[in-house]
Amino acid sequence: MLNDPRSHGLWELTAPATSATQQLTGTHTVDVAIVGGGFTGNSAALHLAEAGKQVAVIEAVDVGFGGAGRNVGLVNAGMWVMPDVLLKTLPAPYGDRLLDLLGDAPKLVFEIVRKHDIACEAMPVGTLHCAAGVAGLEEIKTRETQWQARGADVEVLDASRAAALLGTQKYKGALLDRRAGTIQPLAYVRGLAGAAQKAGARIFTGSSVQSIDRKGDRWCLRTAGGMIEADWVILAMDAYGSGPGDRARQEQVPLPYFNIATRPLSPDMRARILPEGQGAWDTQLVMTSFRMDQAGCLIYGSIGALRGTGLGIHRAWASRSLKKMFPGIGDVEFEAEWYGTIGMTSDNLPRFHKYAPQMIGFSGYNGRGIAPGTTFGRVLASYVTGDISDADLPLPATPIELASYRLVKHAFYEVGSQVAHVMEHRL
Ligand SMILES: Cc1cc2nc3c(=O)[nH]c(=O)nc-3n(C[C@H](O)[C@H](O)[C@H](O)COP(=O)(O)OP(=O)(O)OC[C@H]3O[C@@H](n4cnc5c(N)ncnc54)[C@H](O)[C@@H]3O)c2cc1C
Repeated sequence: MLNDPRSHGLWELTAPATSATQQLTGTHTVDVAIVGGGFTGNSAALHLAEAGKQVAVIEAVDVGFGGAGRNVGLVNAGMWVMPDVLLKTLPAPYGDRLLDLLGDAPKLVFEIVRKHDIACEAMPVGTLHCAAGVAGLEEIKTRETQWQARGADVEVLDASRAAALLGTQKYKGALLDRRAGTIQPLAYVRGLAGAAQKAGARIFTGSSVQSIDRKGDRWCLRTAGGMIEADWVILAMDAYGSGPGDRARQEQVPLPYFNIATRPLSPDMRARILPEGQGAWDTQLVMTSFRMDQAGCLIYGSIGALRGTGLGIHRAWASRSLKKMFPGIGDVEFEAEWYGTIGMTSDNLPRFHKYAPQMIGFSGYNGRGIAPGTTFGRVLASYVTGDISDADLPLPATPIELASYRLVKHAFYEVGSQVAHVMEHRL
């Protein structure tokens, strides 16, 4: 996208093409206008169109341009925060409701993939949260206890069982979450958009919404080339928001995250590394994630941005770290590299905002947007159709709270990840 090989990397090389979309020109009238063509926007569009609503998605660049097309592809259940911390942070009944909803969220993703026959390398075979050291093992055991108390299908594997599924001896154990899995994220979001179009939604790309104003009893959304009038507006721009999405973006501290994909590994290494196809990440502060794609490319990622001094530092880290992690892998060549921005909120939980009457949205996904975005899109659709009301929402409606020292924290993450990756070489 935008001819930038470091924006969507491997996913752009292997995703099926987007179904035909067009730029917004002229004036259109719909029931619901959705700003942002990621998981949240396209899921809302799909569910609204299936409910018989006239819907338009307006996307500034292209379907999946934001986090949706750049991520690791881990279809996680729940958020980063421990279930019990989430329960303490949110007032009742929101905590239980959010945990139940997001615990089931991967199921919704894989059901949508099956129902609409979306070709996105879906692997509903679980994820592995790897324990780095004794503290990491304690952390995943606590997660196991808290999730099992809620009936979730999760299990801590000891070091040798974890090693067999991971292909590395590096970890003290791993939490296998059988609810979760992996997808090719750009292929998934393009498939979601295609399914929404088949259900009747219109998708406009290359159309940045510049303003949203009240016109009589409707909303009027303007782009450079056209205008949409709508009864309802859904804002679904998360960490990539511009124009009317800027304030919700400013509520989040930008955390850079990169991925580097190897060329397809040898059959021997493919049989050894993640042989059952789970996606994995670890408990380190500067975490490492790894997963395989269908062609056998190993996707290896961590915190950091592939620009300036970060480019050389993170590439060198990936080469050396891969050899330590998977002895025998040798000097691998890389096929693609890319990075993007994760938006972190002050308590690591997402937000529900009522921006104005009949203008709503979820944002602040903290690096957990595939399953939550899909699920929140459906929640937004149900709210608009009146199938659920305020009393049923998984989060309270809160005002936007701009993040403090946002750019200082961002710089700290970017520079700190470089220091951590240089130091790791030296230890
Ligand atoms: C590197 C990286 C790794 C990640 N890994 C994972 C992972 O493994 N698992 C997981 O669940 N999540 C992960 N995430 C998080 C996940 O990708 C996001 O939470 C998710 O994409 C949010 O979905 P969304 O639809 O709300 O927003 P986005 O996918 O960001 O889409 C927002 C869209 O809004 C558009 N937009 C912005 N402003 C305007 C405007 N004015 N007019 C029109 N359109 C506009 C943008 O162009 C963009 O396409 C990761 C994110 C990154 C960046």
